Amino acid sequence: MKLIDIHKEFNTDDKCFDYLEKMRWPTGVACLDCGSLKVSRITRETKSKNRRTRVYQCLEKQCGHQFSATAGTIFHDSHLPLQTWFMAIALICEAKKSLSALQMQRHLGLGSYRTAWHLCHRIRKAMKQDFVLDAPEVEADETYVGSRIKRPRHARPKTVPDQVVLGMVERNGGRLKLVPVADAKAKILQPPLEKYISKSVAAIYTDGHPIYVFALKGKLAGKQKTIDHNKTYAIGSTHTNTIENAFSLFKKGLYGSFHHVSKKHLARYCDEFSYRFNLRAEQNSMFAQTTKCLLRGEKLTYEALTASEISES
Ligand SMILES: [Zn+2]
Repeated sequence: MKLIDIHKEFNTDDKCFDYLEKMRWPTGVACLDCGSLKVSRITRETKSKNRRTRVYQCLEKQCGHQFSATAGTIFHDSHLPLQTWFMAIALICEAKKSLSALQMQRHLGLGSYRTAWHLCHRIRKAMKQDFVLDAPEVEADETYVGSRIKRPRHARPKTVPDQVVLGMVERNGGRLKLVPVADAKAKILQPPLEKYISKSVAAIYTDGHPIYVFALKGKLAGKQKTIDHNKTYAIGSTHTNTIENAFSLFKKGLYGSFHHVSKKHLARYCDEFSYRFNLRAEQNSMFAQTTKCLLRGEKLTYEALTASEISES
């Protein structure tokens, strides 16, 4: 769905509610407590324009629960109108190289940077996908992002990348998984490689870095195919071009849209880029899928986002 269509189709909060209700209850509104279909709609008078006005009441005598389509979802605790949420989702889905909170704030005319930043991160969190790569051929490689400047005395400042991202991708139009890792060492790379690559794959292509010889020794032993980048970049089907291309898009986005991505939030950016890459052929349904994820999504409070360490995997 294109941005212009979202704008046209969801120009009132009521229309957004219709959409969420259909998504949440495809066969008709059901009580969130007891599941009964006997419910009645309550029209609530409210002076605050952002307050959710569409509420249902369960008509079962022993229940009587009151609820709305946003109850228990990320949208519920937000003071932002649903129209703003919908536009924000569409903007992130459309932006191949992502967009910064500042851009989001400008596009949507939001009052504060904080609001825009929190909004972006909640959408990113909903984009996290859990899956295992199981195509016959997978490529794996690591890349370095972020930078810390080392300034030895009497020497030119040297920029050293300080964050490592492990990338794994299925060949022939398959899925991508980007995972931040503490360091490019075999014993650190081994667990995510074994977690995200299925034992059923036939071959895992890597570059000539010796870490992969050790990282692919356990569950994935015997599957490695190596191309030595000191000699050449491809011999027949032995190459890592697919993952290199994915990294290139990821870095263009990271450096183009964000000045700095902190270690704490890197996982969420990785999830966002992987998600868009994986749904690239389903551009039309990406908006719906993301909205669905937000309906089920776990909450991410501003306090948790700004806490010194985030306790999520
Ligand atoms: Zn009920």
